[in-house]
Amino acid sequence: MSEKVYRLVLLPGDGIGPEVVQAGRRLIEAVAGALGHEVIFEEHAIGGAAIEAFGEPLPEGTLKAAREADAVLLGAVGGPKWDRLGGDRRPEAGLLGIRKALGVYANLRPVRAYTPLLGASPLRREKVEGVDLLIVRELTGGLYFGPKRREPIDGGTRVVDELVYTTAEIERIVRLGFDAARKAGKALTSVDKANVLESSRHWREVVERVATDYPDVAFGHMLVDNCAMQLVRSPNQFGVIVTENMFGDILSDEAAVLTGSIGMLPSASLGDGPGLYEPVHGSAPDIAGQGLANPLGTMLSVGLMYRFSLNEPRADQAIVRAVDRVLEEGYRTADLAGPGDRISRTEEITEAVLERL
Ligand code: ATP
Ligand code: MG
Repeated sequence: MSEKVYRLVLLPGDGIGPEVVQAGRRLIEAVAGALGHEVIFEEHAIGGAAIEAFGEPLPEGTLKAAREADAVLLGAVGGPKWDRLGGDRRPEAGLLGIRKALGVYANLRPVRAYTPLLGASPLRREKVEGVDLLIVRELTGGLYFGPKRREPIDGGTRVVDELVYTTAEIERIVRLGFDAARKAGKALTSVDKANVLESSRHWREVVERVATDYPDVAFGHMLVDNCAMQLVRSPNQFGVIVTENMFGDILSDEAAVLTGSIGMLPSASLGDGPGLYEPVHGSAPDIAGQGLANPLGTMLSVGLMYRFSLNEPRADQAIVRAVDRVLEEGYRTADLAGPGDRISRTEEITEAVLERL
């Protein structure tokens, strides 16, 4: 029994965000009760909800609370109501803004095949059965943040996006990848395009050097095009994948469909301050406010919060097992249901997970 007090900031956001974050909050309360620690919740506005209340997607109060928290749980932002707003007035600017403000340079997405959901995978059951991999994506550098410009030239325009990394930026994400592989007792695959890109050649050098500090972790390099193919050919070969921003963006979406519904997928974004946890899905305006949202991606994100920010990996294991059991017993939200399945509402499946913790 510990007597720790954790300060957690909840950012429900828009659409189904508030519904899934409510499920996450109930899960945190249950885990805190079981582990004997106290949690102080603070709820703040972000995205469209913040635009309505404060006229901006990321109010100063939200930012300050998030910076001072032990961890942040976010639902989703955006919706048709704000689609016509420009650039930094949009709800999505709130999300990019908070990632940047918290300095979360590592985005982690575990992809796990839940046996009862294997039928929902586009791949054959025997290919995805047992998949349990982790993608570690660099989140604050590379092509997405490098200098960009357009120059008029004869007959058109010349466009430039620069892919920029420093040794230090590569090293911290690669170390995080090795640490994750060591903790999971799995092999690390570093993904790059070293046959073409200078940035990838340096990435490889850094990986080789860092690897000497992890003699117990098996590692290899793989070219990104081959990795895209291998993920659908034999996903079971992967343990932990570490890669730069754009490659990780593409590969993590590809890996996400291996196991079925986007509603199941959690994510963690880590830096040197508080971690940011959110389901991979968006605000799903088509089903918002109806009690139909799948809360499991958010509940699994709470598991990652316990693992990475609150130093309680056993809580994560317990949450994963409870989710497994609920699926085995046949609980299905609408996004998971096949023909003839009985459909559970958000609250019912949340309750079912809590009872099986
Ligand atoms: P974004 O642009 O914010 O990434 P999007 O509009 O591309 O989001 P989602 O909001 O994730 O995508 O919705 C895509 C589809 O998946 C929608 O039909 C939505 O209803 C469904 N969906 C997404 N999340 C869930 C969930 N948690 N439970 C049930 N269905 C969901
Ligand atoms: Mg959208």
